[in-house]
Amino acid sequence: MRLIIMGPPGAGKGTQAKYIAEHFGIPAISTGDIFRANVSQGTPLGVEAKKFMDAGEYVPDEVTNLMVRNRIDEPDAVPGFLLDGYPRTVSQVEELDGMIEFTGHRLDAVVVLTVDQDEVVQRLLQRAQIEGRADDTEDVIRRRQEVYADQTAPLIDVYRGRGLLVEVDGMGEVDDVTKRIFAALDVIAES
Ligand code: ADP
Repeated sequence: MRLIIMGPPGAGKGTQAKYIAEHFGIPAISTGDIFRANVSQGTPLGVEAKKFMDAGEYVPDEVTNLMVRNRIDEPDAVPGFLLDGYPRTVSQVEELDGMIEFTGHRLDAVVVLTVDQDEVVQRLLQRAQIEGRADDTEDVIRRRQEVYADQTAPLIDVYRGRGLLVEVDGMGEVDDVTKRIFAALDVIAES
């Protein structure tokens, strides 16, 4: 399976990504996690990315694209993968198309978690207290939501047009959301 999970900041992508990946025996590849690991290790990539992340802006496409290309070339991702946080721009969609085509495979589905914006700000502020992520302050959260609406939400129509979209209600208990996702994806996996 080659899957993407999308949704606005705080929709629960990371949480659901782990369950989906486990269910299908594929790695969950989170660009946010890879960036954060580089930031905490102080690598050149981390130093570059941090400037953008702390402001709630997207890291430049060239940087992100190369990082994803290298990651999906690793052996564990050859049988399939779930991308969490990528693609986020139209140009990243095109890059990813090229990467997948090159391997002779195709994308199986794009899961979109739909959520209530105000509820999600509350979730993120709570996470800020628990995890202390530098980009979980109210101003930066609002900025991330704007950037998502502006640059990433349009991707939903692109994938809908390709017949790949699987829209799932992301509100309610984590378990219930997982069940909804599995119900939708299992049908696709069998076909
Ligand atoms: P969120 O909880 O907002 O979905 P992530 O953990 O996925 O956040 O990403 C955190 C930050 O990492 C983003 O706000 C952005 O600065 C950077 N980032 C992650 N993925 C991408 C991407 N595909 N393109 C550009 N920047 C990215």
